[in-house]
Amino acid sequence: MLARAAVLTEFNTPFALTSIDLGSPSPGQVLVRTLAAPFCSTDWMGWRAMRGKRPPVVLGHTAVGEVEALGAGVTDLAIGDRVLVAGTPQCRECFYCRQGRPDQCSVLMEQGDPVVGAMPDGTEVRAAGRVGAYASRLRVDRIQLHPLPADLPAAEASLLGCGISTAFGAVFRIAEVATGQAVAVLGLGHLGLWAVQAARLAGAGEVIGIDPHPERRRLALELGADAVVDPSGDDAVDTVRARTAGRGADAVIEAAGSATATREAVLMTRRAGTAVLTGVAHADTEVSIPQLHLTVLGKRVLGCQNGQLVLDRDMPEWIALLAAGRIDASRILTGRYRLDEIDGVARRSQSLDDLSGVFVDFSSDPG
Ligand SMILES: [Zn+2]
Ligand SMILES: [Zn+2]
Repeated sequence: MLARAAVLTEFNTPFALTSIDLGSPSPGQVLVRTLAAPFCSTDWMGWRAMRGKRPPVVLGHTAVGEVEALGAGVTDLAIGDRVLVAGTPQCRECFYCRQGRPDQCSVLMEQGDPVVGAMPDGTEVRAAGRVGAYASRLRVDRIQLHPLPADLPAAEASLLGCGISTAFGAVFRIAEVATGQAVAVLGLGHLGLWAVQAARLAGAGEVIGIDPHPERRRLALELGADAVVDPSGDDAVDTVRARTAGRGADAVIEAAGSATATREAVLMTRRAGTAVLTGVAHADTEVSIPQLHLTVLGKRVLGCQNGQLVLDRDMPEWIALLAAGRIDASRILTGRYRLDEIDGVARRSQSLDDLSGVFVDFSSDPG
């Protein structure tokens, strides 16, 4: 089966729009016709060779689509079903899945990006994150799919797979924010703005957003932050402490990615509080944190891969919140694009013109 795909053939060069032959779904796989795929800032890093990708590769690690064909052994989905293609699988068999931690599933973390098809000249193409969402069709494992209600708009629903699941998981599952707690969110990109909404829904007593970008601070206030801080003008750590009786926040969600942000997230966490770290500046980045904060001050510093997503536990909850309008996607979904606009969409992501730009038109599909 042919798909039209935006292939990264070489780092730091424009994407090649080309057809790729996906073949037919193998046992345990599903062929999905793509309806929506968000461009993620992670892929901007992948494009710059900062994420260990191997071109030629189709980037994009989550999508929404419709089941088009089923491989042998897939009996719990039907042709035409609406599905979320998640970046985090749930194989249920590996060491990590059996411990309830499919965010570290061996299929995702140890097997690398699989070859998903071939370009017209026969060159093999890999699928980033086992998804490769920037294509009109995806050949993916059943273990990466979660059924969606047919009436949930595809573009909004596509944000469930990365931004929403990461931020809501960070707040509800990792930090386990409790009613009345003070939550600081460091970085107000799409992830941070979802975290602001999640903290509000979790019943936080005080939500403080931190970002140098004035428009993003304004949006954070609209989406539920009680206060915002411009770290280029004020000391963010001091400001958070000042607003929390000198203690620091009960929970800090770091969604900025720099080593400085990671350090500040820990510093602005109160004693015995929780810092959740989501950002990665570069695969080799190291972070310096005063030892005392990790030991005597009893802080919990917890890593976050896709919100420690457990598809069948978490996704029904996040879907219900989105369907009920309790998660507001309208301000975060800032652009809808054709797949062939991908170079411009990548630039808009880099220059912070988009929070989440979503591909919704794959229409020049050669198949
Ligand atoms: Zn992402
Ligand atoms: Zn697994």
